[in-house]
Amino acid sequence: MASILIIEDEPQISLSLEQFLKLHGFHVLTAENGQKGVEIAQSQLPDLVLCDIMMPELDGYGVREKLAIHHRTDSIPFIFLTAKASLDNLRQGMNLGADDYITKPFKFADVLTSIEARLKRQKSLSLHYQQEIKSLETLLQSDFQANAINSSLSQLDIQQQFNLQVKALKSARTAVIPLLLFEIGQYLEISSSYGHATTHALFSKVVERFGQYFQNQNIETIMSRLGSHHLALLLPLTEQSDRITHIVNGLFTTLEKDFHCNQQSIKVQGYLGIALATQDGEDWESLLDKAEIALQHTLQQKQSYQYYDSSFQNQLSRRYQIENLLRSAVKQQEFELYFQPQVSIKERKIVGAEALIRWPNSTIGAISPVEFIPIAEASSSIHEIGTWVLSKACQQAQSWRLEGILDLKVSVNISSIQLSNSQLVEEIQTVLEETHLPPYCLDLELTESAFVKYPEETRNIMKRLKELGIHLSIDDFGTGYASLSYLQSFPFDTIKIDRCFIRKITQDRDSLAIVESITKLAHKLKLGIVAEGVEKVEELKILQKYGCDTIQGYFFSPPCPVDKFHQLLHDFSFGKYIN
Ligand code: C2E
Ligand code: CA
Ligand code: CA
Repeated sequence: MASILIIEDEPQISLSLEQFLKLHGFHVLTAENGQKGVEIAQSQLPDLVLCDIMMPELDGYGVREKLAIHHRTDSIPFIFLTAKASLDNLRQGMNLGADDYITKPFKFADVLTSIEARLKRQKSLSLHYQQEIKSLETLLQSDFQANAINSSLSQLDIQQQFNLQVKALKSARTAVIPLLLFEIGQYLEISSSYGHATTHALFSKVVERFGQYFQNQNIETIMSRLGSHHLALLLPLTEQSDRITHIVNGLFTTLEKDFHCNQQSIKVQGYLGIALATQDGEDWESLLDKAEIALQHTLQQKQSYQYYDSSFQNQLSRRYQIENLLRSAVKQQEFELYFQPQVSIKERKIVGAEALIRWPNSTIGAISPVEFIPIAEASSSIHEIGTWVLSKACQQAQSWRLEGILDLKVSVNISSIQLSNSQLVEEIQTVLEETHLPPYCLDLELTESAFVKYPEETRNIMKRLKELGIHLSIDDFGTGYASLSYLQSFPFDTIKIDRCFIRKITQDRDSLAIVESITKLAHKLKLGIVAEGVEKVEELKILQKYGCDTIQGYFFSPPCPVDKFHQLLHDFSFGKYIN
C-alpha cells in the first residue's frame, strides 16, 4: 500500500483529502505545518508528498528545500498544492525539484490522477536505477575482482563492511573509520547539457579512476553509489588524520584530467563531505547523515572538502531559515537602507554616500549583510534585493538633490550574481528615469570576483553603463583575485582600497607599500581613489600624504539611517574632525 504524506495547515482541506485518499486504498500521514511535515517525511519516508505552499513559518518551498538535502527524502515524489498559479510560482517550485503542481480549489479526481502518474513514474525510475546500479556493479566487480581490490557498488556491502570495521574499532580506541561522500559538481547541468547516458558514463569513469587510485595505493576501500549523483567511499580504519587528507588529495588529483565520454570532453569538479566513525556517528545511517551535512557545507562554502563539525547542523538550519525568511522580506518591506559618508580631504566635505542594506528581522533579530547577502546570492533573491536597494538609493539621492544638495554621489553595491541578469542595464536605466536622478550622481560598486567570473559579460555591461553616464568603482580592491591589469581593461572611474590594508597601515610595512602602489597606479591611470574603513586620524594622515583624496570609515561616521545622514549632510564641518 503506497503511503502519502499531506502537509497542509487548513484542517478542512487536509481532512477531506485524507478521507478521499484512504477510500482509494492509500496509507495517509498528515502534518499541520511545514516543520512537522519535514520530520514525518524524514522518519517515515512516504511514497509521495502533497504539500501546501502557503503556510506560516516554514512554507512549501522551505519544506521542499529541506527534503532536498537528503538523498532519501529528495527522491520522494513531491506535489505542491496552491491557491496561486502564477508562472513565477510554478518555476520556483519546479526549480526546487517539485514534480507537479495542483491549484486550489482542486477536483479530487485530478489529485488522484497526478498521484498515480507520479507513483508510476517513480516505480519505473527506481527500476531504472536498480538496473543502472546493477550494471555499474557488474562493471566494477569485473574490474576489481581481477585486481582483488575490495570495492563494490552495493549499499548492503558498504553497510556490512562498516559494521565489521566498527567491531574492529573497539579494539583500536584511537582509530577512526572515515566515510567520504562524493558529489560531482554541476551534476544536473552536466546531465541537461550532455544527456543521461553521457552523465551515467561519466559517473562510471569517475568511479573507475577512484578504483584505480585505491588499487595503486593498495588501499582497501569500498564504494557505493547513493541516489543519482552521490558516491559513498568507506576508507579503512586509520589512526592518522593526515592519511585521510592524503587520500582525499589523491582522489582530487585523479579528477584533474578531463573525462572523455561519448565523444565529449568533460571537466569534473568534485566535492566531498567527510564524517568519522565513531566520533560523528556510531551507526551507518547517522554517519551517512553527517557526511551529507559536511557535503552540503562544502558546497555552500565553495570548498573541495570538509570534515563534519557539529556546528554545521546549526549553521545549515540557520541558513535555511534565513533563506526562507528572505523570500518574503522584500515584499514585506523589511529592509532598511543606511548611508555612510565619503569625505573628500581636498574639498573638506561629504562628496558621496554608500548605500548599505540593513535587515532588522523580527523573527531572528538583526542579520548582517555579510551573512545574508551570500545566502541571497545563492538563492537568487539577490536580484529582487538589488533592485530594491538601487531604487531606494536613487530615490533618496534625488530627494536630497531637490533640497539643494547637488554634488553628492550615491554608491550602490552590485553583486556579481546581478551581472548574470541580461536585463540589468535596462533595469538600472528605468530606475534612473523613474527617480529622475541624473546618471552622473550614481556610482555602482563592483567587486573583483565579477571580472574574474564573467569577464566578457562584465566588460560589456560596464561599457553600456558608462555610455549611460554612470560612475563605476571597483570595490574591496586588493582582496580578490584581480590583477592590476584588470584596471586597464575595464572602464573604471574609482578604486576602493579594502579595509584590510587600511587597518594595518600604521603598523605593517607591506600594507603601507600596497596602499602606496595602488595610490600611485590610480593617479597614473587618472582614477579616483577611496580608502575604506578609516577609523583613526593617524590612518587618515598617512592616506593624505599619499594623495588618497576620499575617505570612508568610522572616523567620520558609521553607516547611518536616512534621518541621521540628512543631519550629517547639514551639520558637517571638516574642522570638527581635523584641525
Ligand atoms: P562593503 O561594500 O565593503 O561595505 C563596507 C562595509 O564596511 C560596511 O559593512 C561598513 O559598515 C563597514 N565599514 C565602513 N567603515 C568601517 C570602519 O571604519 N570600520 C569597520 N570595522 N567597518 C567599516 P556592512 O554594512 O556590514 O556591509 C558588509 C558588506 O555587505 C558590504 O561590504 C557589501 O559587500 C555587502 N552589502 C551591504 N549592503 C549591500 C547591498 O545593498 N547590496 C549588496 N550586493 N551587498 C551589500
Ligand atoms: Ca561597497
Ligand atoms: Ca568594500
